[in-house]
Amino acid sequence: MTIRPLDIDPSLCFIAGAWVPAKSGQTLPLVNPSDGSALCDIARGSSDDIDSAVAAARAAFNGDWGRATAVERGRLMSRIGALVLENIDALAELEALDVGKPLRQARADVVALARYMEFYAGAVDKLHGTTIPYLDGYTVYTLREPHGVTGHIIPWNYPMQIIGRSVGAALATGNAVVLKPAEEACLTALAFGELARRAGLPAGALNVVPGLGAEAGAALTAHKDVNHISFTGSVGTGRMIQQAASTHIVPVTLELGGKSPQLVFDDADIDAALPFLVNAGIQNAGQTCSASSRILVQRGVYDRVVSGMAEKYQALRAGPAMDDLEVGPLVSGRQKEIVEGFLAAGHDLNVAAKGTVIEGAPKGGAYVAPTLFEGVSPDHKLAQEEIFGPVQVIIPFEDEAEALAIANGTDFGLVASVWSRDGARQMRLARALRSGQVFLNNYGAGGGVELPFGGSGLSGHGREKGFEALYGFTTLKTVAAFHG
Ligand code: ADP
Repeated sequence: MTIRPLDIDPSLCFIAGAWVPAKSGQTLPLVNPSDGSALCDIARGSSDDIDSAVAAARAAFNGDWGRATAVERGRLMSRIGALVLENIDALAELEALDVGKPLRQARADVVALARYMEFYAGAVDKLHGTTIPYLDGYTVYTLREPHGVTGHIIPWNYPMQIIGRSVGAALATGNAVVLKPAEEACLTALAFGELARRAGLPAGALNVVPGLGAEAGAALTAHKDVNHISFTGSVGTGRMIQQAASTHIVPVTLELGGKSPQLVFDDADIDAALPFLVNAGIQNAGQTCSASSRILVQRGVYDRVVSGMAEKYQALRAGPAMDDLEVGPLVSGRQKEIVEGFLAAGHDLNVAAKGTVIEGAPKGGAYVAPTLFEGVSPDHKLAQEEIFGPVQVIIPFEDEAEALAIANGTDFGLVASVWSRDGARQMRLARALRSGQVFLNNYGAGGGVELPFGGSGLSGHGREKGFEALYGFTTLKTVAAFHG
């Protein structure tokens, strides 16, 4: 298979501006989750390839790329964004094949990737330091400088969006990047490398090394010449990455998922809320860090919300990515087993409604029927742990205090939303909710390229997206000049 129309061989790594095989010559099979068939082979990068990629990034950082001005970097980001949009059909198809994402959702991810490039292109020449009043005879100012070589370890659920928000911000601020995409889905990461090359990004400024987490990923986090690690993925892997990065005291940004609640009060506009309540749970088959998997509903509107959501669930169909239904397959058979384990753990719960896996869905595909549980206790396993599948629980509450206690009653803190017409309540809860983002009478706000994103607790730390990411991918230097 070649990645069309870019004509690149997916079994190669992109290092120092060239397409090269993994030094070991080994590859890994990539599977199409819609039918379980073999898609192609990808490189099995190892520590040798990571060493080459980090050396190439360091050379770029010490060379032309490190000297590029903010305006030049911004122009490059614009060119990459334009090329991404020119190739929207090909990129969307690749992501749909690789991740199992319905085509329309994959298309939205391409647009988001381009938007990140546009946003950072326009923002980076507005990033500046400050002057600081100090002692008599001094002038003091700060400089925002790139970290140097940044390592990016990304998951399989939204490769393009996560490349956009983390690689986009890192390149815009002048870092040189080594990207390790997930072994389950890495085709658009490779395509992005080629588009960046065609846009004129200097060799070595971006390197893409596919491979296993325990091999290429671990080598990148442990590398002594990497100056910053950005990781999006599971809590367990996040823990290992933070520990590995501590060896060389390298800063890490961790985005690890959540158990994000939506709080629906008696005075809410229920008709407006219903599509958000469901979509936030089933988008990308629920394999979304910011998925809303807990719906907290006040008693007065409880029956109405349960029946409204149930009606929507009954219309949900899961099928192959190319059929472009509401729900695609999960990314892999392994992910399907994990989600089925959670469904089995919900055997004691009331099922409010289920969607369907369409007749004729390929037997080898990783399909799970979307499932809505109601009347769930806040301490149930399904109300506490991240499922990463099309499964939501509805939890009843009596009043605002109870809603807040339930909402804040998990180990996570990524996204929350409040549905209420009471402005004072909106403001109180926006402050009291333990969450990196709070939405009032909406959820997710359409991806939010401009909106800082990240969590607390097991959801991780650090912020990506928006202007905030430009601070995250730079470090501050204070210059104190004595001139008398
Ligand atoms: P999942 O279990 O859902 O695949 P992970 O958090 O394990 O999620 O994977 C996210 C990314 O982290 C992938 O690119 C994966 O290869 C990488 N990864 C997994 N284990 C490690 C590790 N020990 N060190 C560095 N990266 C890893």
